[in-house]
Amino acid sequence: MENKYSKSKEQNRRSNERKSYNKFNDNKTQSFKKNNQKRSDAYAMEKAKTNRLEFEKFQKLEGKTFKVTCKELDEAGKGIAFYQGLQLHIPNLLPNEEADVKVEKYRGKIDVRVIHYEKTSPIRVKCRCDLFNICGGCQYQHISYADQLRMKNEYIANKFKDLRGNYAIYPIIGMDDFDHYRCKNQMVYGVNKNGSIIAGFYEEDTHKIVNYEDCMIQDLTANKIMKTVKKLMLKYNIIPFNEDSELGLLRHVFVRVGKHSKEVLVALVTASEIFPGRKDFVKDLRKEHPEITTIIQSVNETTTSMVLGDKERVLYGDGYITDTLCGLKFQISATSFYQVNPIQTEHLYSKAIEFAGLKSTDVVLDAYSGIGTIGLIASSRCKEVISVELNKQAFKDAIRNAKINGIKNTYFYNADATEFIKEMAEEKTHLDVLLMDPPRSGSTEEFLYSVSKLQPRKIVYISCNVETQVRDLKYLLRAGYQIKKVQPVDMFPSTKHCENVVLLEKR
Ligand code: SAH
Repeated sequence: MENKYSKSKEQNRRSNERKSYNKFNDNKTQSFKKNNQKRSDAYAMEKAKTNRLEFEKFQKLEGKTFKVTCKELDEAGKGIAFYQGLQLHIPNLLPNEEADVKVEKYRGKIDVRVIHYEKTSPIRVKCRCDLFNICGGCQYQHISYADQLRMKNEYIANKFKDLRGNYAIYPIIGMDDFDHYRCKNQMVYGVNKNGSIIAGFYEEDTHKIVNYEDCMIQDLTANKIMKTVKKLMLKYNIIPFNEDSELGLLRHVFVRVGKHSKEVLVALVTASEIFPGRKDFVKDLRKEHPEITTIIQSVNETTTSMVLGDKERVLYGDGYITDTLCGLKFQISATSFYQVNPIQTEHLYSKAIEFAGLKSTDVVLDAYSGIGTIGLIASSRCKEVISVELNKQAFKDAIRNAKINGIKNTYFYNADATEFIKEMAEEKTHLDVLLMDPPRSGSTEEFLYSVSKLQPRKIVYISCNVETQVRDLKYLLRAGYQIKKVQPVDMFPSTKHCENVVLLEKR
């Protein structure tokens, strides 16, 4: 689609003039940033010193057993308790629980663990996962679902308590059936001490693989397929890749499931292109799992912790799956960004669009648009949508998704959202509604400054990191906006994470 915002010569001249004017302000910002940097360096050094002293004190406790009472949970879901003035972060300990704990070496590092519970919390439930506290994925597996939701509500309320205004924080939207919700699934393959093939997950913060095939949040079909791959590896003598020796072939299995369409994509991630017996391997895999609609080989020759490689070979089917979301079709390849919980994504997007209160004359900007989902869903309710996304593949997927849904009033740009919106502000482009969904790091001051120049009637800010969202909201409050509604959505049951949608309007 054509770039409506590409600069003409005249526009370039005007924008250069503005840039020299802005230099003055930039200089001021620079010295402010420098002072700020000095302050934060001094703070970081002070913090590192305190951490080191605390760590030394903690090391001296090695081998000791003592009683603690948990005060609250930290951001990682560990219980905070105090002993001899030291703040301890203890896995599997809930607020108000009393326990005997022991400080000793666990998996190579000194850690503190519960050895006996004196008093347990009423919010505790029996943990259904053997890898709880090992893989580090589900920090809230030991908490009843109702209490997980309550805690997430309290977390949001706490984060918003300093944000002025008269707005509603609605109760979090939870799930009825909160197990096996993920549509994107992956497992790593390796060999154990006895030489048997194992498939599972890395121990938290390590590259040590633990065998586990029944993950509670991964899709059930995906778990089964991963088990079958292990069996077929034996049959076809496919050796798992070893990161140290760099020998072996299969690194990961990645499975994407269309929760509505039931289509299934399997990516066999290999360390090299040569895959002996792959035709028969694929034939057998399909025979055992007729639900698989496409299989690809993803070649990952890197030494990074990325799962998928950059070379792909389609072994069966189209190389992508199609799923529906809020009534539209989306083609999703292995590498496409797609929200991991499609059931909750429908709630999230519906809320975002309801909050936007779109009119048929509205020009909408969908910033950080991924494969175009929110903007495309909004497009039937407004005049036009401008979508901006940095990732080239996601941008291409977005254009394809517009085509397959016959949507013609959405314009896509492959650019940095900040640079793009700065340009829009310079050109004084008319904007009615901004939908923004930045990554965990949040947006930038320059982006928000340009928003304040463009003055959209409404801003709907979606975020998976409330910390950075609140930081950005403070900026928007200073820039003349007010918060009207806050709606948390539980996209990640059993984990500490929380998605949040906020509506802002001009004051
Ligand atoms: N709105 C989409 C994607 C949200 S995730 C959805 O709901 O599916 C955040 C997206 O921001 C990712 O697709 C990421 O590639 C993109 N992104 C990250 N930094 C960016 C930047 N500086 N400019 C534009 N897009 C960016």
